[in-house]
Amino acid sequence: MKKVIVIGGGLSGLASAVLLAKNNYKVTLLEASPKLGGRTYSRYDPQKNFTYDNGQHLLLSCYDHTLDYLNLIGTSHKTSIIKTIFITFLNRTGESFYLSGESYKYPFDLLNAILKFKVLSLSERLSVSGLLIRLKFTNPDNLSNLTVKAWLTQLRQSENSIKYLWNILVVATLNASPEHAAASSFAKVLKEIFINRTDGYHFIVPNAGLSELFVDDALEYIQNHEGNIKTSERVEKLFYSDKNILKVNTNKGSYENFDYIISAVPIHALYKVLPEFSGKNKVNPEYKPILSIHIKLNTERFNQQYYAFLDSPVQWVFVHENKISIVISDAENLIDYSKDVLEKLIFDEMEIHFSFFSRSDVEETVIIKEKRATFVPSPEFEMARSGIKSAFDNLILAGDWTNTGLPSTIESAVKSGFDAAKQILRQ
Ligand SMILES: Cc1cc2nc3c(=O)[nH]c(=O)nc-3n(C[C@H](O)[C@H](O)[C@H](O)COP(=O)(O)OP(=O)(O)OC[C@H]3O[C@@H](n4cnc5c(N)ncnc54)[C@H](O)[C@@H]3O)c2cc1C
Repeated sequence: MKKVIVIGGGLSGLASAVLLAKNNYKVTLLEASPKLGGRTYSRYDPQKNFTYDNGQHLLLSCYDHTLDYLNLIGTSHKTSIIKTIFITFLNRTGESFYLSGESYKYPFDLLNAILKFKVLSLSERLSVSGLLIRLKFTNPDNLSNLTVKAWLTQLRQSENSIKYLWNILVVATLNASPEHAAASSFAKVLKEIFINRTDGYHFIVPNAGLSELFVDDALEYIQNHEGNIKTSERVEKLFYSDKNILKVNTNKGSYENFDYIISAVPIHALYKVLPEFSGKNKVNPEYKPILSIHIKLNTERFNQQYYAFLDSPVQWVFVHENKISIVISDAENLIDYSKDVLEKLIFDEMEIHFSFFSRSDVEETVIIKEKRATFVPSPEFEMARSGIKSAFDNLILAGDWTNTGLPSTIESAVKSGFDAAKQILRQ
């Protein structure tokens, strides 16, 4: 039985470990923190009797690798799929606007939704529709030096359309502003979601906590296939000869008996254990934070599953019965505020947007600050992303940051993990 060490127990590491275990490889997974899941996990607070995720995660129908992974570990039934376009946007004066394609089939649902989106003028709506139609014939690789903002301006999108539609889409998919994100990355995402297939934009919503959906059954799967999972074991250094990694040192010991290693840690963590990895071309992507605020209410008053806010620091509110999750992406300006300041800001925003919201209905609040939530797919970083092969024959790279062609997402992480495992299976 060939032996593989996987470094990192996020979704890229778990995906590679599961696929290798399925193919009779003996996997040892080393994870620095006490928990698995990396940037995708849930926590239970016994004092508050409150289970919450580190952040609301949304999947899309075009997440093929992620759906394969969930099928493999047997948890795909813990999600539900939303097949119609229906998003309610609320502004600060209590008006609602709808992006709704209900009762039409693709692509007319999409065009209908845009043409009726009254936040924009008619000519702005026509211009947005025109861009989507034109996208079919756009090669994202030809946009490699442009930011999203420059690209949208070239395509005559008005300031209003950028502010009230494109900005929301860019921040939701790339966790970065149009001024920072690469146009190539955004165009790829748009094509994957809206053009390349008829169902790419369907939302897949987790019905269980993230750890229950992605982690617990993967752990069991790997262990049932003779794998070892070692948490709280941080890899500190990789020793190598010319062409191969020879030894892995951790805070608890060392490993020398293996055929392959998969590094499934973020790029900054890889630099620490193997500074030579980068050679002369060290690329460090910028990371952006996401703030998540989970609120438990003593009442159920919302009648929709999610809402988007216009002109607010809050972008999304997701409703799960009496619990709501509020998402602030690209949250650099707010991430260092204290819990009290953030709570006040959130409650004020909720009261402005929902006449029925009252802070006296709030039973518990949890604020999670993920400072390094996702990397910014800037034009420079997109061009420098590394493939799965390293300079060492027995070291394969995985992680959402490798050049999967996708932004910093679960799908990118899982795809990279599968690609790394397949590379070993091929060898
Ligand atoms: C709040 C939030 C919301 C998000 N929302 C979405 C969403 O809606 N949709 C979506 O698709 N994506 C979303 N993402 C992004 C997604 O979670 C990540 O892209 C994905 O989880 C990255 O997985 P990964 O395995 O590449 O890296 P990570 O999850 O970072 O895993 C790397 C692991 O390596 C471990 N490690 C690091 N150094 C060492 C070492 N020296 N030794 C051993 N182990 C080490 C770390 O502890 C970690 O567990 C969100 C992320 C956040 C934080």
